[in-house]
Amino acid sequence: MQTYDFIIVGSGSAGSVVAERLSASGRFSVLVLEAGGSDRRFYVQMPLGYGKTFFDPAVNWNYKTEPDPGLAGNVDHWPRGRLLGGSSSINAMVWIRGAREDFDDWAAAGNPGWGFDDLLPVFKALEDNQAGADQWRGVGGPLHITDCSTAVHPLTKRYLAAANQAGLPFNPDFNGAFQEGAGTYQITTKNGRRMSAARAFLRPAMKRKNLRVEINALATRILFEGKRAVGIEYLQNGETKTALAGREIILSGGSINSPQLLQLSGVGPSALLGTLGIAVFHANENVGANLQDHVGINYTFRGRLPTLNQILRPWWGKLMVGMQYMLMRSGPL
Ligand SMILES: Cc1cc2nc3c(=O)[nH]c(=O)nc-3n(C[C@H](O)[C@H](O)[C@H](O)COP(=O)(O)OP(=O)(O)OC[C@H]3O[C@@H](n4cnc5c(N)ncnc54)[C@H](O)[C@@H]3O)c2cc1C
Repeated sequence: MQTYDFIIVGSGSAGSVVAERLSASGRFSVLVLEAGGSDRRFYVQMPLGYGKTFFDPAVNWNYKTEPDPGLAGNVDHWPRGRLLGGSSSINAMVWIRGAREDFDDWAAAGNPGWGFDDLLPVFKALEDNQAGADQWRGVGGPLHITDCSTAVHPLTKRYLAAANQAGLPFNPDFNGAFQEGAGTYQITTKNGRRMSAARAFLRPAMKRKNLRVEINALATRILFEGKRAVGIEYLQNGETKTALAGREIILSGGSINSPQLLQLSGVGPSALLGTLGIAVFHANENVGANLQDHVGINYTFRGRLPTLNQILRPWWGKLMVGMQYMLMRSGPL
């Protein structure tokens, strides 16, 4: 049994940043438990590889919802990353902050320090923005952001012009003064490779002696002493192991798995835990409730200009685009 100052469950967007911050001073020992494996995979590193990882069980929890009355009874696919970097290793890399109004609502609900103006210096400090620094944007931070507005498909420019005609103003920077309008996304990549939270935060921190990362380590239960969380039981290579935390345990398993781990540990709605045969340790109706999803809709049109689909369909198209990526780290991939 090992003892650490901090145990972090999950190495995703949140876990990677927290692991970097907690280990930075060198004063604390930190353990990260990650259920998935390494992020050193071609389709993780190559940005457009996310089309492949979207359903790949080797790196994805591949959740399915219950049939959803709001979606005419359909079952939805909910991908979540299961590897170093978590969902930031399989996501679409769009770099867009939350809306000012949402953060300000959090602050107004009694959470000082969470308003947009409080957070802006943190947002800026995270960034190494290719487009440069200004009142809203940062450079020199750990997370590189690529401006791809000059590299878009010709149809994108037509789309933006059409949006403008329809009354949606062109917005040159969704992370600038306001979010409304139509524009091109900035993306988290650097030199043609995905810039996941693992690449930006966790991997540099893994060089420190006081940070240990265990992969293929599935946390199964939080251990309590009285009402205090003191350890984690986890499963690794078929073996049940235990790690203890002298200071704190941080759950960063994502919006589905963190409440699941709490529920498995007896923290959650009593009626639900009762039906699952889990002894209630601390009743709380909110654990596993109140999740808000947002549904995205794709429109598909037939175009007269060749689109990526046409370029990538024939083998020579794949070869050309593949060579452009391998030799120049540029192009659609
Ligand atoms: C396909 C896809 C596309 C997306 N596109 C974008 C986008 O373009 N822009 C954007 O801003 N956001 C996007 N997102 C959302 C964004 O990636 C997530 O909101 C964010 O990564 C969540 O961070 P997190 O730390 O909460 O969880 P995650 O990053 O999911 O990390 C959770 C980690 O915990 C691990 N874990 C879970 N349970 C356990 C356990 N019991 N024991 C040990 N480890 C465990 C998981 O394996 C995972 O590695 C996308 C997400 C997906 C899946």
